[in-house]
Amino acid sequence: MKHSISHLSALLILVALLSTTIKAAETAYYFGPDARFNPEIPSPEQFLGFKTGTRLTHHHEIVSYFRELDRLSDRTQLKIIGYTHEEKPLLALVVSSAHNLENLEQIRQDHLKVLDPQSSFDQNTLPVISFLAYSVHGNENSAAEAALLTAYYLVASEDEKIDQYLTDGIFIIKPNRNPDGHDRHAHWVNTRKGKNPVADPADIEHNEGYPGGRGNHYWFDLNRDWIPAIHPESQARLEFFHSWVPHVATCHHEMGTNSTFFFEPTRPVDNESPLVPRAHYDLNNKFGEYYASALDNIGSLYFTKEVFDNFNPTFGSSYPDYNGTLAILIEQGSSRGIVQERRAGVITFPEAIRNQLVTSIATIKASIELKPELVANQKSFFRTAIENGTRSTVKGYVFGDAEDQSRTLRFARLLRLHNIQVFENEREINTGGQVFKPGSSFLVPTQQAQNRMVELFFNKELKVPDSIFYDGSSWTVALAFGIPYAPVSNNAAFASKKPFSEVERTINLPKRSEYAYLIKWTDSEATPLLSYLLKEDVLVYTALKPFSTQVDGSIIDYGAGTLVIPVSGQLTSSDRLFEILTTAAGKYRPEITAVHTGYNARGIDLGSNNVRPLLNPKYSF
Ligand SMILES: [Zn+2]
Repeated sequence: MKHSISHLSALLILVALLSTTIKAAETAYYFGPDARFNPEIPSPEQFLGFKTGTRLTHHHEIVSYFRELDRLSDRTQLKIIGYTHEEKPLLALVVSSAHNLENLEQIRQDHLKVLDPQSSFDQNTLPVISFLAYSVHGNENSAAEAALLTAYYLVASEDEKIDQYLTDGIFIIKPNRNPDGHDRHAHWVNTRKGKNPVADPADIEHNEGYPGGRGNHYWFDLNRDWIPAIHPESQARLEFFHSWVPHVATCHHEMGTNSTFFFEPTRPVDNESPLVPRAHYDLNNKFGEYYASALDNIGSLYFTKEVFDNFNPTFGSSYPDYNGTLAILIEQGSSRGIVQERRAGVITFPEAIRNQLVTSIATIKASIELKPELVANQKSFFRTAIENGTRSTVKGYVFGDAEDQSRTLRFARLLRLHNIQVFENEREINTGGQVFKPGSSFLVPTQQAQNRMVELFFNKELKVPDSIFYDGSSWTVALAFGIPYAPVSNNAAFASKKPFSEVERTINLPKRSEYAYLIKWTDSEATPLLSYLLKEDVLVYTALKPFSTQVDGSIIDYGAGTLVIPVSGQLTSSDRLFEILTTAAGKYRPEITAVHTGYNARGIDLGSNNVRPLLNPKYSF
């Protein structure tokens, strides 16, 4: 027995030594020869069973590794902040000291007091909040791989500085912001690369087939969705962002294979937004010094200042700048596969990962060392936001379309998603030939913490310093949304402080009719409502010409396109029809109005030849 125990001990020591050696080899390449790590925490290589950089890590493997870190460590809290179209979880790993994590919710709430310049709370007493975000483009994978190593570093490192980092900082790692696209690309590379990687750019491994992994499930570029926020990934990202409003947020990308590495500063002056405080661009320069030093240390080439947009708010590297957070763009020349020839030499996947990793660690270091400046910058951002609103002759904006409540509510919801304050308009505003009535319009004051976002949504910035842009130029989101709006210079309009509330919007249930029902076509949800009714086999007609008819004692105008649903001639009973319409009214906003006569006060009657049936369209390919 004793004999076998000593054998077992010897075996265990051997296994431990072997694993230490394997680990040391990986950590030495990525972290340098002197890096020390907690042996209780597995590296990505130990946990996943392959050397980081020898193939692409699938999203489910990233999830498993982050869950394992969270299981083993008291330095982490793993959050699932949403799901993709393919129902893959979107992760945010919060890493900090056990003490900070125990008080995380209180820290978050105290930190958000910065949005209220009246608050005397001293943010210097809290940790600095730093977001490290990777791979919004699914085929820019060195970023997601570096996220694994960055998490490993923060969780397992025994670096002498790590205690200070975790005491003075909260680091939130978002390893993979586009899992659907990421997995498409990972599958492409992993199933096409050979045992011996081929560097020839013509090799199939480097030539991803259509549609590629850049976009999400619907091939949409999620780094163009920060403002419209159409997709679940973007909505989750925005909600999470505004629940923290970090001091810093990085956005790690890849660029063309022949490029080296890029970090901010971007091209100066003409690529800077007049809405973003100058201090953000200055802080970019300070972070740049940390990136330069980290890349100098490992002999990597890089460039700055020559290119890249620092303006377009629908990029992850600019949006935070409009919202009180210093945003930072990182771009690595892509190996797009495991190794690829460049104009001269080759770029390997591990080299690309290592550049992303050392700059991630530089972000951590810079966040801690520049904490007083970052805290002061954010405080000043929100104080000047309120001052801008106070100084402005435009006191706010009124918006709303009485004929399209669905669009009006979608717009109000979008503003709220961007944490912009929206209030009910409680009195009629008549301005510039437009009338905005209570109940169908809303107010957005300029005097608010999100002043710069209000400007972005409503102000028409007609002059820009440069006529050539990589992407977007001027942004007036209200115009893009097609919502009627107007500036309001009268303070009195903003006396009411009743916040917009989705739950308080009433559903207009239809009244019963034995003759017909009408639905105006002006509301943007009339289309899905029509589709719903056709699927329920309701016979629906449309009026080709306008008419006016009596509803509850008043004459109401109906335009061409109005949907007409007669009770007679349906395939179902009047009871069942009323039931279907009542259910539809709970799902869609357009009002369904009961009428009791076909004889109209003006225009065509309901039985006119100009009222034609709408048939459910059928498609063939
Ligand atoms: Zn990108």
